[in-house]
Amino acid sequence: MAAVEGVSLDPEDWTTLRAQGHKMLDDLLDAMETVGERPLWQPIPEPARVRMQRPLPAQPTPLEVVHEDFLHDILPYGSGNAHPGFLGWVQGGGTPVGMLAEMLAAGLNANLGGREHMPIHVERQITAWMAELFGFPADASGLFVTGTSIANFMAVLIARTRALGTGSRHTGIAAAGRTLTGYTSRVAHGCVGQAFEMAGLGSESLRAIGVDDQHRMDVAALRAAIAADRAAGLTPFLIVGTAGSVDIGATDDLAALAEVARDENLWLHIDGAFGALAILAPELAPRLAGIEQADSLAFDFHKWGQVPYDAGFLLCRDPAIHRATFAADAPYLQRATDGMASGTHWPCDYGPDLSRGFRALKTWFTLRTYGLAAIGESIARSCDLARRLEQRIAAAEGLSLMAPVQLNIVCFGFTGPDADRRNEAAVARLQAGGRVAPSLTRIHGHPAIRAAFVNHRTSEADVDALVDLLLAMPA
Ligand SMILES: *Cc1c(COP(=O)(O)O)cnc(C)c1O
Repeated sequence: MAAVEGVSLDPEDWTTLRAQGHKMLDDLLDAMETVGERPLWQPIPEPARVRMQRPLPAQPTPLEVVHEDFLHDILPYGSGNAHPGFLGWVQGGGTPVGMLAEMLAAGLNANLGGREHMPIHVERQITAWMAELFGFPADASGLFVTGTSIANFMAVLIARTRALGTGSRHTGIAAAGRTLTGYTSRVAHGCVGQAFEMAGLGSESLRAIGVDDQHRMDVAALRAAIAADRAAGLTPFLIVGTAGSVDIGATDDLAALAEVARDENLWLHIDGAFGALAILAPELAPRLAGIEQADSLAFDFHKWGQVPYDAGFLLCRDPAIHRATFAADAPYLQRATDGMASGTHWPCDYGPDLSRGFRALKTWFTLRTYGLAAIGESIARSCDLARRLEQRIAAAEGLSLMAPVQLNIVCFGFTGPDADRRNEAAVARLQAGGRVAPSLTRIHGHPAIRAAFVNHRTSEADVDALVDLLLAMPA
């Protein structure tokens, strides 16, 4: 598949490339169709590990050889999140439609930083859909990013701009002479604290508010913390609520947080990484009441939306303050009144990235091809499976729940004196076993087995396999 010498990297012989391309596509579709028949995870064998350490490829290798290497050395040694038995962390399973759309996006090689072309309008369409879905104003701004970690970081920056004004972009935050303080719950994702660090505010400026027995932020404690900080001469600026906590899937009382934010004139950001899309399941949507009052919302299409990685999203109520945080004049990014370089606002005005891929396409295909109802049903089914696991634990001798089941996450473990060690050992053993794989977390300081139902391929058989394997384990 030698390139035409001195001309370009395109093939000399498109017919051969086409045949090889079809074979590659078929191989991947086969792998997806049979994903549940292979081990979920397996250790990387030493020869494959050694083969992965090749010298810098100065000379060409035929495409079919590189693809063979992929089939032998990469494909079988994934982390397993496409497998129906994967219950670790909170990860989406992907779909064949998402995979095909990603291929189309790569073929277009669109750069969504700006300019006037249809891919930008696809991303705007998704923004308009999300504004409608979450009850935001029709002119809300939105942007695809890698994931909720970055979307949360951007929201902190936007709230910081609102509190200090755009002048702080030039003078730095210290020049404002005020100490900004933010508020989130004790069970918020670690990336919120990290966002405070990256924003130059320091993670100590983020108050970790206590939670009730359902792991929802204690609203009275929130009000008290804001009052105490004001009394100390600090400047409260942001509340970060959680829709679907990483520990047990809890959702804060978002309407109550919105009321506090209004009373105190603070920005309300919601981390809805996986939980926000529960709005697609009619029986779960009421838990998200109040989300429509947020100033900004971060969530991932790559978790419960099953869009292939990565596809995070930030939705912002006020496009002007969103732009004021990121947009910058550069002579080489000048906008024309019409034609290719036209458009008043480009996506690069809404975030730190200039070059951006076409994440919107795989999302557009996924939402249109499956339809919102089917995605909502698969989300509701995840929660049904969590309840089935809860029931099986209740009925099992020697296992017990370690946290209430709120949504799709079940934290549980062995009972008895040696429970901590047994829980850790069991998770390691299950992950190595390749059939069904939960992950580990800590609940009240103790190791807990954590099963998160996110993958649309997971079924009752996987729940039963998990419990049966645990009960068969030696003490
Ligand atoms: C997964 C998750 C994040 C981080 O999202 P990424 O897409 O991994 O960056 C943040 N918050 C919560 C609640 C999450 O579950």
